[in-house]
Amino acid sequence: MKGTQKHISILGAGESGVGTAILAKKQGWDVFVSDFGKIDVKFKNTLKALHIEWEEGKHSMDRILKSDIVVKSPGIPNTAKSILELNEAKIDVVSEIEFAGYYTQAKTICITGSNGKTTTAMLTYHILKKAGVNVGLAGNIGASFAKQVAEEKYDWYVLELSSFQLDDMHKFKADIALLMNITPDHLDRYDYNMQSYVDSKFRIIQNQTENDWFIYNYDDPIIQKELEKRTINAQSAPFSLTSKIKKGGYLDSKEQINITINENLTMSIHDLALKGKHNAQNSLASGIASRILEIRKSAVRESLGDFVNVEHRLEFVAKVHGIEFINDSKATNINSTWFALESMENPTVWIVGGVDKGNDYEELSALVTDKVKAIICLGKDNRKIIEAFQDKVEHIVETSSSLEAVAYGYRFAKKGETVLLSPACASFDLFENYEERGNEFKKAVRSL
Ligand code: ADP
Repeated sequence: MKGTQKHISILGAGESGVGTAILAKKQGWDVFVSDFGKIDVKFKNTLKALHIEWEEGKHSMDRILKSDIVVKSPGIPNTAKSILELNEAKIDVVSEIEFAGYYTQAKTICITGSNGKTTTAMLTYHILKKAGVNVGLAGNIGASFAKQVAEEKYDWYVLELSSFQLDDMHKFKADIALLMNITPDHLDRYDYNMQSYVDSKFRIIQNQTENDWFIYNYDDPIIQKELEKRTINAQSAPFSLTSKIKKGGYLDSKEQINITINENLTMSIHDLALKGKHNAQNSLASGIASRILEIRKSAVRESLGDFVNVEHRLEFVAKVHGIEFINDSKATNINSTWFALESMENPTVWIVGGVDKGNDYEELSALVTDKVKAIICLGKDNRKIIEAFQDKVEHIVETSSSLEAVAYGYRFAKKGETVLLSPACASFDLFENYEERGNEFKKAVRSL
C-alpha cells in the first residue's frame, strides 16, 4: 500500500522525536527521522529495530519537503532554515505533543509557566497515582508522550509543557490547564519580545470550552494583565497567596492552604512536604487539579504531605556540624532564586553564578540585605554579582569548583546557619548541566 501511505518526517532524534517515530510507525505512516547532529546509539538501535529510516549530520530537504506532516523537536527554533522552507511549502510543522494528541482519547492536565513546571507536574502525578487514577506523566519528563500513547493505555496524562512545545501545538486541547507564572525567560527565542513569550504561554488554554478548567496564578501581574485582554472559555480556578479565592485555592492568614473546589479542603503549610512560598503555590495548583478530579480530600492531604521533593530543587542535602546545606542547582533564573532566598529562615551563605541570561540582580537586593551574610561566586565571569552585592555582605569570594565553593561555605557559616546553592544562572561555563552542578555540590558536602 506504499502509494497511499502518508509520509512523516521527524526533525530531531531525541526522546520526543524517537517516541514520535514509534507512534507514527504503529499508526501506519511512512517514517523518516532526520537529525542535524549526532543520534544517540540507544535511539539508533530503537529506530533500526523498527526498520525506520534515519539520517544524521544533515537534513535532506528534498525528501523532507515531500512529507505530509513534519514533527520538529522543541529545540529547533522556528527561524531555522529548514523550518522556513517547510513554511514556504505550506507543510504542517507540529510538536510531538500535538501529533500524539491525534491518537489518544486520554484526558490531560497540562502544566506550563516560567518556573515550577516539573515540581507541580510530579506532585500532581503523585497525588493522582496514589489515589488509584490510571495516569501517565510526560512532556519534558521521562518517556515521551508519543511513546506512551503508542505503548500504554492511560486514562489521564499529566504533561509538563515548555513554551517551545506550545508554539507548535494547534488543535491540541488541555482538559485542565495550569499556568504557574510568567517571568522573563528564553527571550532570545522570542525576538526579545515579551508579548510573544506571553502569547506562547497562553496557548495552554487554546481550544478550551466551558467543560474544561484553567488554573492560574492570581498574584502574577503579567497573567492578570493578559487576562484583562482575553475571554476565557474554561472554568477558572485561580490560586493566590494573598487574596481569598472562592473557587480555586489560597493561603490564609493562619498559614493554611485552602482548596475551594468541591467543598473546602484545608491544610497547614507546615504539613506540606514542599517548603517555601513558591511551593505553597505549587501545592495549591496540584491540589486544585486533584480536587477537580474529585480525589478524596484525605488522599490529597496525605499526598501533599508525603511527596518527596524533586532533585536539585531546594533539596536538603545534609546537616554538617549544625550547618544546613541546600541544593537548588535548578534555579537558573532570578525568579527561582528569589523564592529560594525568600524561603531561607536562617542566616545564609549563598553560592551564586554561572552563565547569566540577562539577570537584573537589583531584584534580589532587599532579600540579600535581609538574609545573606556571605556570597560565594561560582562562575567564570562574576563581575555583575560582585558589583551588585559587594557592599551588602560581610564576605564575597570567587571560586571555580564545587569543592572550593563548599569549603568556603563551611568556613563562613556557623552552627544554625545555611549554605544555599541557588545560582540564578545556567551552568555550562563550568559544568555539563545543572544536574552535574548539583551532584558535585552534594558530593562535596558529603565529603566534608
Ligand atoms: P521548571 O520545570 O519550570 O524549570 P522546576 O520545578 O524544575 O521548574 O523548578 C525550577 C526552579 O524554580 C527551582 O529552583 C525551584 O526551586 C524554583 N521553583 C519551583 N516552583 C516555583 C514557583 N512556583 N515559582 C518560582 N520558582 C519556583
